Amino acid sequence: MEHRKVEDVQQYINGKFVNAVSGERFENKNPFTNEVTNFVAKGDQHDIEAAVFAADQAFRKGPWGKMKLKERMKYIDRIADLIEEEAEKIAYLESLDSGLPISQTRKMAARGAENFRFYSRMVQARMHGDAYQVDEDFINYTVYQPLGVVGLITPWNAPFMLLTWKVAPALATGNTVVLKPAELSPLSANTLAKIMHKAELPEGVFNVVHGFGESAGEALVKHDQVKAISFTGETTTGKRIIKNSADSLKKTSMELGGKSPLIVFEDADFDKALDAAVWGIFSFNGERCTANSRVFVHKDIKDDFVSALKERVEQIAIGDPMDSNTELGPLIDEGHYKKVSSYIELAKEEGCEVVQGAIPAGFEKGNFVPPTLLLNAKNEMKVCQDEIFGPVMAVIEFETEEEVVEMANDVEYGLAGYVWTNDIKRGHRIAQAVDSGMLWINSQNVRDLRIPFGGMKASGIGREGGHFAIFEFYTEPKAIHVSIGDHHIPQFGKKK
Ligand code: NAD
Repeated sequence: MEHRKVEDVQQYINGKFVNAVSGERFENKNPFTNEVTNFVAKGDQHDIEAAVFAADQAFRKGPWGKMKLKERMKYIDRIADLIEEEAEKIAYLESLDSGLPISQTRKMAARGAENFRFYSRMVQARMHGDAYQVDEDFINYTVYQPLGVVGLITPWNAPFMLLTWKVAPALATGNTVVLKPAELSPLSANTLAKIMHKAELPEGVFNVVHGFGESAGEALVKHDQVKAISFTGETTTGKRIIKNSADSLKKTSMELGGKSPLIVFEDADFDKALDAAVWGIFSFNGERCTANSRVFVHKDIKDDFVSALKERVEQIAIGDPMDSNTELGPLIDEGHYKKVSSYIELAKEEGCEVVQGAIPAGFEKGNFVPPTLLLNAKNEMKVCQDEIFGPVMAVIEFETEEEVVEMANDVEYGLAGYVWTNDIKRGHRIAQAVDSGMLWINSQNVRDLRIPFGGMKASGIGREGGHFAIFEFYTEPKAIHVSIGDHHIPQFGKKK
């Protein structure tokens, strides 16, 4: 694919593309070459001030807050149409920015459009309250109202898909938005700003402030006018955000890290379990929150499963993210490359046998870590407890159901889990026993948009997705009590 020159990225505030207030910019690098792709406006507290002011005005004084539902949904549908029209460009920019293979970013761009379509349908069909008649005295009812300005903070691992997943329900429910995308992958957020501009969204309804977490991110989290923060990223960052949001008593939603187990029993459909295990860790370059980074294999099939894994690892197509045959691209940046590589060294020290695919010649400039198996791993090893967030799968042997459930749960995280067995009772037993927000039986990670997404333990607080995003996060339920009869009111101070 031909490489095009990419323009520099500005903030999008109050319907205008502007430089950072400080005038500063930072370099954005291509993970495949480590060359500078372009420069990005480096926002800080001042840019956040401007964006939140614009979003607050748009909510309280602009047309958005009072707009009829059908009219608001026309904008949401239009955004989905425009994403579809620009899907190929979005996929290109996303692959350029993140190193994710283009065959995968094409699907992510399509999913981005679907996020808007889905929330247009969902809000029209489901965003309603309940009514309760209380004898002949009262009717009580609930309405769901938008919160106001919401702050959305997103990571770099699947940038466009993850940010549309937040922006779509936030706007569809009537909020206004300040988005702070990851500094390592600003391009697709900038494209979304352009799409919003083209869709002629009223000024201030959608704003993007590019910049770093410690400055722009923290300012957004601490801002008094921001009513809620939806965050996806690392667990340590999530903890910091919760602390920083305490003084302004913000609602927060936390989608954090994972170290998810995939359990293969001896009666499993071997080939399908193999396909799922390999795809589940090596897609998204291994930078996937729900990746099956710990694979537990029953001792009766372990040798065969490991030989099949080795064969696959050798054959995974490592390459240029822009090549549609590439299955595994480079990691997001040099810092992350070093982190993942150091875990592979640690695995050797901890006693694992390390088996890796080979990086083809000519790719030396990129942040490539080959697909990696950590064999003979033990669940208590650090490489089985920490989120490595790269193409690294630990393989752990087990014998009994009880033992494997204990190991699966003996970890800080609780995001996803996968179990492979043809014993349907056992499948359900495991699904209910593993401490994770989501569990797949005989399936890889495929998710219908109606189902809640999120984790337990250190993997998160709250659920988004489906109607959960609407009712549990982006709106405030209000209870209204109406007297319809002549009920008794205590008469304090009235002479008897
Ligand atoms: P990160 O926590 O480093 O950064 C995420 C975002 O937070 C970025 O926009 C960053 O600028 C911002 N940020 C950083 N410090 C901040 C602060 N003090 N205040 C406010 N904002 C701040 O995460 P990352 O490295 O970009 O992403 C990888 C992580 O995301 C992994 O742990 C992965 O598991 C997790 N993740 C979770 C899910 C999920 O749904 N559970 C999905 C994708 C990724």
